[in-house]
Amino acid sequence: MPHSVLTALGLSATESGTYLGNGEWSTTGDAGVLEPVNPTDGEVLARVQASSQADYERIVERAQAAFKIWRKTPAPRRGEAVRLCADALRTHKDALGSLVALEMGKSKPEGDGEVQEMIDIGEFAVGLSRQLYGLTMHSERPGHRMYEQWHPLGLVGVISAFNFPVAVWAWNSFIAAICGNITIWKPSPKTPLSAIASMKICNEALNKAGFPDIFFLFNDAGSDLAQAFVDDRRIALVSFTGSTRVGRHVGECVARRMGRSLLELGGNNAIIVDPTADLKLAIPAIVFGAVGTAGQRCTTTRRLFVHESIFDDVLAKLKTAYAQVETKIGDPTDAANLMGPLNSREGVQAYLDAIEKAKASGGTIESGGRALTERKGNFVLPALVSGLTNDAEVVQTETFAPILYVMKYSDLEDAIEMQNAVPQGLSSSLFTTDLRASEQFLSAWGSDCGIANVNIGTSGAEIGGAFGGEKETGGGRESGSDAWRAYMRRQTNTINYSDALPLAQGIKFDL
Ligand code: NAD
Repeated sequence: MPHSVLTALGLSATESGTYLGNGEWSTTGDAGVLEPVNPTDGEVLARVQASSQADYERIVERAQAAFKIWRKTPAPRRGEAVRLCADALRTHKDALGSLVALEMGKSKPEGDGEVQEMIDIGEFAVGLSRQLYGLTMHSERPGHRMYEQWHPLGLVGVISAFNFPVAVWAWNSFIAAICGNITIWKPSPKTPLSAIASMKICNEALNKAGFPDIFFLFNDAGSDLAQAFVDDRRIALVSFTGSTRVGRHVGECVARRMGRSLLELGGNNAIIVDPTADLKLAIPAIVFGAVGTAGQRCTTTRRLFVHESIFDDVLAKLKTAYAQVETKIGDPTDAANLMGPLNSREGVQAYLDAIEKAKASGGTIESGGRALTERKGNFVLPALVSGLTNDAEVVQTETFAPILYVMKYSDLEDAIEMQNAVPQGLSSSLFTTDLRASEQFLSAWGSDCGIANVNIGTSGAEIGGAFGGEKETGGGRESGSDAWRAYMRRQTNTINYSDALPLAQGIKFDL
């Protein structure tokens, strides 16, 4: 008997993981099975039949055929298709948000928030479908006109991580769609049900309105098909969200075949709290940043630099707040809980290993630091660790769990230097009421991250801005601003409407 959250979305105990287009789901039953586990109690939620090589080939062929139609469809009409998807998601927001909470383990408000992000990016994409602007240039030659225009790329591959099982796909596929592309999605093997449900909701809305299939899905039981996907020359752009380890490999493979990649990889985000900071803002921002989604966001706050004059006060306040969070850890589908479990047993082990390493390196566990083994599921206590320096190996590493390393500083320049002194470069923030400190943090000699905030935390980006980070975070940008350009190719056009053929730079070529 499937969980009630699954039945609310029309999902059964066994699901196909392959959407072939034309409303058709593959019947392949011999390519392996994915068994997503409820992280709250360790029970298998459903069985998902993985895709075969033949399924993959069919998807690519159908996607190529769909592209021939879609690239001729006017962009505002493509926007209408995405609008229908956003509307359908709004109708199913509560159920899909619950499924995200159930399968991934994030809290119900965060699950709903993730679906809201899909709706928001859909609405953004609708507006954008009338704003895919190019520039015009003044030609140096008389009777000539120059301009640039943006054309779709073709097939866009999306490979997503478990921690944002639906929003990352929407960020990519909705923008890619209004740009005229067809998207093929390979979700995380830990969260295939959220992916299947999203595809059903969106594709049913598209099919009902007579739109061609613009979104396809496959699930891989291992990583062979995913690897073939990355190496496939027919996939013009691979948008990869996941760990730096896998992302580095994916980036290298795509570069080898001269394809395009968009990499959204790990973060090691820091907050700096200066002596003028308003702690009414800083403390909740730090706690939400470190504990939200049980520390499994790429933008999770992992390091905290506090000015020495307020260090003891901030640490005491954090310990009080953490004690409150500890009373609200539980089933993420219950909206009263602030923190759910880690998504997997491996996640719990990584958390425990990091705590041991922190202790061995001379760190003091100020709060938490253990798994809740007395309960079923993957629950841990959020941890506060003091006494380590920024260069400690464990501090330099992204452990995908709620562990916050709290460190002291005396000079803002040093604090900024430490915050930058990690391999990753995703999100950063400063709490201050000092204008000079704020501007220094945001200047060219300030934060080196893709996201730099003042008086708000590191996590919870809005879709309107371009999202992504520098260094080992991969350099990609998704979502708002002009991130749409990554899904299009630029073409420069020169038109001669004179009756002469003047060459550029005044060159004479007499025949
Ligand atoms: P992961 O790297 O283990 O997996 C990501 C995806 O890669 C999965 O779909 C997986 O099946 C796939 N994959 C594995 N091997 C592959 C191969 N050879 N070829 C192609 N694909 C392959 O990451 P995860 O554990 O799911 O997610 C956590 C990580 O993702 C963290 O490091 C987090 O910071 C990062 N993340 C980054 C962002 C961002 O926007 N920067 C957002 C979310 C998560």
